[in-house]
Amino acid sequence: MRTPTLRAYLVRFFLAALVILFNAPLFAQEKHLPIIDVHVHMMKVNPAFASDMCPWFLRNMPGGDPTLPPPSFLNTDCAEPLKAAKTDQEMHDALVSTMKKLNMTVVTYGDPGLIRKLQKAVPGRVIPGIGVSSSKDMTVKAFQDSLSSGFYKVMGEVAPQYQGLSPSDMSLDEYFSVAEKLNIPVGIHMGTGGNGMANITSPKYRASLGNPFLLEDMLARHPKLKIWVMHAGYPMIDEMIALMGAHAYVYVDLAGFIWSYPQAEIHAYLNRLVQAGFGKRIMYGTDLLVWPKLIETSIGVIENADYLSFDQKRDILFNNAVRFFRLDESKFK
Ligand SMILES: [Zn+2]
Repeated sequence: MRTPTLRAYLVRFFLAALVILFNAPLFAQEKHLPIIDVHVHMMKVNPAFASDMCPWFLRNMPGGDPTLPPPSFLNTDCAEPLKAAKTDQEMHDALVSTMKKLNMTVVTYGDPGLIRKLQKAVPGRVIPGIGVSSSKDMTVKAFQDSLSSGFYKVMGEVAPQYQGLSPSDMSLDEYFSVAEKLNIPVGIHMGTGGNGMANITSPKYRASLGNPFLLEDMLARHPKLKIWVMHAGYPMIDEMIALMGAHAYVYVDLAGFIWSYPQAEIHAYLNRLVQAGFGKRIMYGTDLLVWPKLIETSIGVIENADYLSFDQKRDILFNNAVRFFRLDESKFK
């Protein structure tokens, strides 16, 4: 009696083990399709400024008066504001966990220590960028040395608009020559600066210096330079489309405006770019600052765009960045 029972038990155990073994992939969490975020800032968290934030906060530009305090940059008046990380470690942990969950790769700018730490946590998924927005930032030699060291693969975020400079200003020309010579892609801030940037922190900021046409002279001087226009030159859609039409290698990212302006406005802008035929030149970017959940919030805007096909969404979230940054697609499989 005892031996057959034991045998039956062992057989049953063996069969159960086989079932578990062969069904294992069903139990494993399915891998998310890869996403590349081309616009992630990594700066040290300043607890004094790490306040919560309501996405699409620019849906209602407040009225004001120059004799009163300037408008606040953010709006925290909504049901569920996004929580700001209060420490560097909290931001790092949240970013690592989102990157793993969403199978993300990021192009990132900012504090080299924080970038190195992120590279260690998610190896092969962090592409560091170094930005120069005015010749006061660093010498051309220092810039070239930084790129030649091999750590930085991208030039960005270049934001001369905040300095009151055009991207074609000759004081930046030698930096672009270096990027062109070393085959380094360049991301340039053009357009949006929120509500009242010139009143709040950047008195030299000029809306007119976000005009995408201002890139043309610089592009003519550097025909081999590969650039993308950050924030897609919002809100200058006609100029953006004309520039992309005339310059076949110019791409855009959707960073910043995708979570700050009213959603109908964002969709109208994105739809217009796609409708004009530039679906292969739009890249996903968050403009991540201190709110970890901003990534999911912003990706949700793309996912919910009912005028985009599945393939168009994949182009924006992944394929276009692979092509633009000349990445090896097989590494994402
Ligand atoms: Zn920017």
